[in-house]
Amino acid sequence: MAGFHVRSVLVTGSNRGIGLELIKHFTGKLNPPEVIFATCRDPEGVRAQELKNLASKHPNVVILQLEATDSASIKSTAKKAEAHLGGTGLNLLINNAGIMPPSTLESATPEDMLSVYNTNVVGPLLVTQAFLPLLKKAALGSNQKGMSCSKAAIVNISSVLGSIEKTPELFSFVPVVSYRCSKAALNMLTKCQSMGYKQDGILCTALHPGWVKTELGNFQPNADLTVDESVSGLMKVICDLSEKHHGVLLSWEGNTLPW
Ligand code: NDP
Repeated sequence: MAGFHVRSVLVTGSNRGIGLELIKHFTGKLNPPEVIFATCRDPEGVRAQELKNLASKHPNVVILQLEATDSASIKSTAKKAEAHLGGTGLNLLINNAGIMPPSTLESATPEDMLSVYNTNVVGPLLVTQAFLPLLKKAALGSNQKGMSCSKAAIVNISSVLGSIEKTPELFSFVPVVSYRCSKAALNMLTKCQSMGYKQDGILCTALHPGWVKTELGNFQPNADLTVDESVSGLMKVICDLSEKHHGVLLSWEGNTLPW
């Protein structure tokens, strides 16, 4: 991990949960990124206070407003990030923001299905489209061979609950139908991105963070990982990612999961 250096990273949904912990871990690295874009929906709200406290201690943390379902908000954030990067590209984009409302086969409504799809799938699509020029710039400007997060990468925080192959063993544990469908679609989006951006040298990978004690994860009382345990694992996986992980779904422990 010591030799791994990401110059710039952007994380969506970074005011709490896994997103906030990712920002903490990036700031705590021996060789931290020069720019850490911590994006959230409401930087002035009470739910961003912990992030603001962190940013006040780390000048490399830049808080930017980003609502993942709002194209205008995303484009405006990309412009601000570009200005801040001063001619360099963005190495690592982490699409982390997500929602998981309760949803069963009986209770799912059109509104529920579309709202979850909008946040968990359309969001990562739009955010990636807006930041693609900066990711391409990072890849072009890098003299590193192969693919890596220190060169140019898109990491989509997905879930094993989106794995069709794993559904028979996990469905009764937590049905969350709208969420499962959205994460299956996010997995497909990751695969499509891996095909589309291969020639640009941009690594595209989906990561499952484990079952983590966050607001989202506490939906079930028996979430088994603390946010620090999950993100410690995710950071190690992120640091080790290479072309062999392009277009795959990996767990927080680095194991390949079936689609
Ligand atoms: P939390 O509920 O703790 O945090 C979710 C984050 O996403 C918050 O910062 C929230 O912001 C943000 N967010 C939600 N909707 C939007 C939006 N439209 N635009 C921008 N930001 C938004 O969840 P986790 O930290 O647990 O989840 C992070 C990711 O990890 C998600 O993609 C989730 O699906 C995935 N995951 C989590 C697991 C777990 O066990 N916790 C398991 C598997 C996957 P705000 O405060 O404004 O609501």
